[in-house]
Amino acid sequence: MPTHLFTIANASPSLLPPPNWSRHFLFCFNRLSSTARLSSTAKLSAAAVRSQAKRGFSFKEDEVASPADLHFEAPLKIVEYPDPILRAKNKRIDMFDENLKKLVDEMFDVMYKTDGIGLSAPQVGINVQLMVFNPVGEPGEGEEIVLVNPRVNKYSKKMVLFNEGCLSFPRIHADVERPESVKIDARDINGARFTVNLSGLPARVFQHEFDHLQGILFFDRMTEEVLDSIRGDLQALENKYEDKTRLPSPERIETRKRKNVAVGFGKS
Ligand SMILES: [Zn+2]
Repeated sequence: MPTHLFTIANASPSLLPPPNWSRHFLFCFNRLSSTARLSSTAKLSAAAVRSQAKRGFSFKEDEVASPADLHFEAPLKIVEYPDPILRAKNKRIDMFDENLKKLVDEMFDVMYKTDGIGLSAPQVGINVQLMVFNPVGEPGEGEEIVLVNPRVNKYSKKMVLFNEGCLSFPRIHADVERPESVKIDARDINGARFTVNLSGLPARVFQHEFDHLQGILFFDRMTEEVLDSIRGDLQALENKYEDKTRLPSPERIETRKRKNVAVGFGKS
């Protein structure tokens, strides 16, 4: 089975976002630790994913974020599993003002400081449809991409496995299968609409962050076998949350219902 390091170095320039994307873009994988390989042992078939996609998600009822919803205090802090903020509904943004630009700057700041390559707004406690990423993960290098109210129009049939990490799950890495490429619609930091095709690492980062905007976490997409390898780590995070908040964990991996089919990829 071909295995190769999935780095920007081997991604063709055409796979990268076009240069006219605004200076910001978003994702939360840990750099340099990830490998990708073609999936030949897919537990979740492409057909199953497509049938899920046909069901679709409805975004029409999305509430619009108020200025209070977009209020933040710097420096931002990363929200960790199992904080219920990560499962809350994320509101649509329709104010493209200075506050939004500041929020995006702060998100890039915390993303770089924590060695991430992507970050979604709910991960910093702001429940709105906003993500930023830079697949290179270094300020001043690569392309900073900002996506507001993103939607997926199309997923590739080809599925790939990739060893993902998430800033909301410190030090946890595990394989997740996702479509290799996606076609998306979004608005940029100024509110301008655009469409773009992403493949490779940018597509992977986008899909991981897009899941955050739907309240889906990466372990929701892992096979039971993969999940077994990180169960103890998830429980440790649940215990940490309980110790810190003195509240019962809002979800527990131990009592999670076994799913026959993983969460689908919804076409919006
Ligand atoms: Zn994440």
